[in-house]
Amino acid sequence: MTFFGDSFLGLREQLRWRMALVLVILIIVLMVALGTLNTRLGLTDTAFLSWAVLAIMSGCLIAMLALPRDLGGRLFFVVTALALIGVIAFGYYYQRPMQHWAYIFPAVIAFLLPSRMALALMLAYGVYVSFISAQLMASIEVVRFASGYGLLVCFLYTYALLEERAAALLHYHSAHDALSGCLNRRTFNETIAQIEQRHDRCTFLLIDIDHFKQINDQRGHLFGDRIITAVAAVLSQTLEGQARLYRYGGEEFAVLWLEANLDAGIALAERIRATVAAEDFHGLKVTVSIGVSHWTLNDGAIAGALGRADDALYSAKHQGRNCVVGAAARPQVLPASA
Ligand code: GH3
Ligand code: MG
Ligand code: MG
Repeated sequence: MTFFGDSFLGLREQLRWRMALVLVILIIVLMVALGTLNTRLGLTDTAFLSWAVLAIMSGCLIAMLALPRDLGGRLFFVVTALALIGVIAFGYYYQRPMQHWAYIFPAVIAFLLPSRMALALMLAYGVYVSFISAQLMASIEVVRFASGYGLLVCFLYTYALLEERAAALLHYHSAHDALSGCLNRRTFNETIAQIEQRHDRCTFLLIDIDHFKQINDQRGHLFGDRIITAVAAVLSQTLEGQARLYRYGGEEFAVLWLEANLDAGIALAERIRATVAAEDFHGLKVTVSIGVSHWTLNDGAIAGALGRADDALYSAKHQGRNCVVGAAARPQVLPASA
């Protein structure tokens, strides 16, 4: 069921598109009904408005089906917001108050923009509608509209703010590992799935803590957890934002370095290995073994490069641990110097 991956952001794009699809169909049905009703009542101007909105929404539906879903989902809300601006101008032209449609605008814009920007646009739109309405209705009617609209904006802004904070929290937790604070395996899988479309080379490091079982057995799992967290912090500091760090499995980490070559990856791995070996982890010495592989677009599927990094890591364990192995045609072994 997933076409944007299984992260929170993917889910939000998916839901936005589905919701837009339902709404655009609802509006099309509504415009057919309103157009027919207005035509029967002899209200040619509002009938024309209904047919115009029907044509716009039908075009929007076709575009939504043709475009990628993240763009299609946004397009619907942009078109609806523009149509709502147009409807008010249309009412002014035909001297017909159209302020009852204005209540839809805040909800549409809250779906489209970050809360602060949405608030500014909601308020600007409210002023625009009040100003036009003042030309067409009694002052008390404008005050009634502005009061109702203002309250709606207050409630929707509060809701949008809350939703935004909850979304940020959810997004963080869906992308990060709770123990180490690194990006998690889910994020790794999603990034890997997109690399072939977005980049033409990258380097992988698979890092595994040596004899970690012994640490668990001798000092307990809670202490083991603290070691995982501390190793992650050292790795993250050593990377200095140069490459992304993921918790790949239990006591295994992956580094993804975009646009880097194998030699740079091996040099980085060696720096990581030496830094970890030199560090004191709650009174314990810890070492890591690292497998490095490189991928370019000519190599085909990226899974092959991951497999090669895994094989290289396996070789590093067999070389006696605390070392780096680069996966080339013939694996290069770099002996530990610390
Ligand atoms: P090697 O040098 O060959 O990697 O030896 P090892 O003992 O590290 O090997 P292995 O991969 O078999 O052991 C990993 C252990 O890590 C097994 C598992 O119980 C432990 N582990 C996995 N995830 C966690 C975790 O989140 N916390 C703790 N404390 N232990 C974990
Ligand atoms: Mg392991
Ligand atoms: Mg291990």
